[in-house]
Amino acid sequence: MRVITVKQKRVYLDNSATTVVDPEVIREMHPYFSDVYGNASSFHYFGRQAKMALNSARKKIADILNAESEEIFFSGCGTESDNIAIFGIVNAHHKKSHVVTTKIEHHAVLYACKYLEKNGYEVTYLDVDSDGVVSVEDFKKAVKDNTLLVTIMHANNEVGSIQPIENIAVELKRINKKRKNKIYFHTDAVQTAGKVRLNVKKLGIDLLTMSAHKFNGPKGIGALYVKKGVNVSPITFGGHHENGLRPGTENIPYIVGFAKALEVSLNRIEEYDKKVFALREKLKKGILDIIPEVVINGSCNKAVSNILNVSFNYIEGESLLLMLDMKGVAVSTGSACASGSSEPSHVLSAMCVNPILAQGAIRFSFDCHNTEEDVDYVLEVLPRIVSNLRLMSPVYDQKTFKGKNRS
Ligand SMILES: *Cc1c(COP(=O)(O)O)cnc(C)c1O
Repeated sequence: MRVITVKQKRVYLDNSATTVVDPEVIREMHPYFSDVYGNASSFHYFGRQAKMALNSARKKIADILNAESEEIFFSGCGTESDNIAIFGIVNAHHKKSHVVTTKIEHHAVLYACKYLEKNGYEVTYLDVDSDGVVSVEDFKKAVKDNTLLVTIMHANNEVGSIQPIENIAVELKRINKKRKNKIYFHTDAVQTAGKVRLNVKKLGIDLLTMSAHKFNGPKGIGALYVKKGVNVSPITFGGHHENGLRPGTENIPYIVGFAKALEVSLNRIEEYDKKVFALREKLKKGILDIIPEVVINGSCNKAVSNILNVSFNYIEGESLLLMLDMKGVAVSTGSACASGSSEPSHVLSAMCVNPILAQGAIRFSFDCHNTEEDVDYVLEVLPRIVSNLRLMSPVYDQKTFKGKNRS
């Protein structure tokens, strides 16, 4: 008997969760698994080869960021870099100090700050406006005598909103001039690295987090920029790797992959931006044209070009995600780390999105590998899924396309 299997069409629109590894990156990494496999700390030939690869990757990344090689530290992921930045600054300086962050940080920062609070530190979580952007004025008001660290993400991973990092850095410089205890500035740039030209000097920050798998590099490799002269304590202890800040044998293939992925991304950055912007706008327009009762979360003008966050009224985002998955379309509700919990997204809550609408939010996130056909396919399957789910909704009136009176 012949079994006919129809291959399910697959459209990946969850590139803010992770991206495919670029073939050029894989090619570059490959020899470092098999030929150049030495430990970069060894003094023999094998070790020296590995060390050379490590140095050259570090230099490449430093050059791209307008930093020095000594300012780049590799870690296991973006989460680890965020943790090293936060606990590293806090531990290296006066205890029981005050930290300023925002309500829309990734959990890697948010939960690190919650942990600080549990241990007697004071933390201010700044509000954001309806576009998901913090205000420089609010930041200025939040600074106290014992403030030690400001950690504000560059672009948000759920709605893409870009934060005014440069303006905050200018204010911070002004504030720092008038005080004895310097306030340090960290930014989680995981969602902008490889998508926006990052210049650490222009940004005016002291520490910056990146993660390779968000820009077509391998998973499990992160980096932290630490400005020269900024004292950061390690959070794990061992050898002298990464100047003692992050002990553990360096993962040379992944580090090489990180540098290559950043280089490849930046070489095509204009092309990338044009492409993902056009795809996002096409999907946005298509959804707004065809599907009633939808709300775009955040302002696409103050955001990275590859994220579209949409709320579908009268629908649970989780159900929509599962139905789209059955049709081969991969999206996310809020952030991947938050799915599985039915709590509304902390980001949408901070933006004061109505909780019912927040429950119906879906994040579509693009990459330069996506095509117009991908968007056409989504626009073909999405309207029916939405109307089917709404038919099951007890609060949706199909005739008027409006909510039924909930009294
Ligand atoms: C993905 C992400 C992280 C975590 O990076 P990992 O390498 O997955 O640990 C941190 N911050 C933001 C904004 C992210 O999008």
